[in-house]
Amino acid sequence: EIEVRALHKSFGANEVLRGIDLEIGRGEVVCVIGPSGSGKSTLLRCVNLLEEPTKGQVFVGGAELTDPDVDIDAARRRIGMVFQQFNLFPHLTVTENLTLPQRRVLRRDKAAAAKVAAENLARVGLSEKAAAYPSSLSGGQQQRVAIARALAMGPEVMLFDEPTSALDPELVGDVLAVMRMLADEGMTMMVVTHEMTFAREVADRVVFMDGGAIVEDGTPEQVIGNPRHDRTRHFLSRLL
Ligand code: ATP
Ligand code: MG
Repeated sequence: EIEVRALHKSFGANEVLRGIDLEIGRGEVVCVIGPSGSGKSTLLRCVNLLEEPTKGQVFVGGAELTDPDVDIDAARRRIGMVFQQFNLFPHLTVTENLTLPQRRVLRRDKAAAAKVAAENLARVGLSEKAAAYPSSLSGGQQQRVAIARALAMGPEVMLFDEPTSALDPELVGDVLAVMRMLADEGMTMMVVTHEMTFAREVADRVVFMDGGAIVEDGTPEQVIGNPRHDRTRHFLSRLL
């Protein structure tokens, strides 16, 4: 579903991605781990072309996003993204946060957008907050709204960049539970996270990045349970 080939990204003289090859099959959940500055966010941002790769190719659902002739807006619509900061519109209600992008980007009419919004709020367990404003919600609830907003666009794949890192510890579980539900439903997911329990239990594969390269790629049992490289072991030992 997602394929990254020989991907390079430089910011000026700083080569941040040094040749990334990665395949994520349909319905697969891949967790990306690694130290700060290793290029995890840049990789995710290159997958939906929020950053333009310096070299290499990105395919999503068989279409090449890095093809200069591609309709990038259409391609990006197939990719949902959830960030550490929730980026909800503070002056809009929860429902309006979900309907606005559907109407603007997908040209859905008001009733259709509202129906999809309600369905997805129910999926993340927040139907009762439909009329609330983001500032009245907890961080965990806001992040679940952000996930529902992405889902309302009907994405084929979901990208998550440290979705629980900004949350108080007691709120992390609810957000991870929603992500676990999506994984169980067969969503293709790429998740940058430091939540090793989630990675162990939910990921089909774990990718360890360091210095802009993939150092290890395998099952959670292999990469977290039995790492082959010193750099992976060192990284994991500091997390415990
Ligand atoms: P963290 O765990 O802290 O989020 P990360 O693995 O996500 O780290 P990136 O954010 O991908 O790392 O950053 C990798 C490198 O790229 C860093 O050296 C960073 O300074 C650099 N970088 C990222 N974005 C930009 C940018 N827009 N302009 C210049 N340099 C950037
Ligand atoms: Mg990052």
